[in-house]
Amino acid sequence: MEKDLLEQFRTQLLGKRDEILSEADKTLADMTDQNNNVPDPNDRATIESDRSFELRIRDRERKLLSKIDEALDRIDEGVYGICEECGCDINLKRLEARPVTTLCIDCKTLQEQKEKSQGQ
Ligand SMILES: [Zn+2]
Repeated sequence: MEKDLLEQFRTQLLGKRDEILSEADKTLADMTDQNNNVPDPNDRATIESDRSFELRIRDRERKLLSKIDEALDRIDEGVYGICEECGCDINLKRLEARPVTTLCIDCKTLQEQKEKSQGQ
């Protein structure tokens, strides 16, 4: 892939990374605020369920973060945009829509079919 293009993806990935991290900070600050000031047990229950919702979101964000880090590593190693399965170039449109992807559309489709047939 061309260097300019790689840098463009790097910027995009870093931006997304910052976005997730600042969102996570905000969530944490909100949770701390709520915790310090809840006299009513009913409110507390609501906040508890809110919190498990937040934590689920954060779990997903954590996974995305690690994918972003892996993608940044691949940029550094010069293998970004190359399919992990077949070694062909991943379609640029696909990368733009999903910059953390490691598989070309053909291999991704195959993988999904395999997962489906295994009942996962
Ligand atoms: Zn492939």
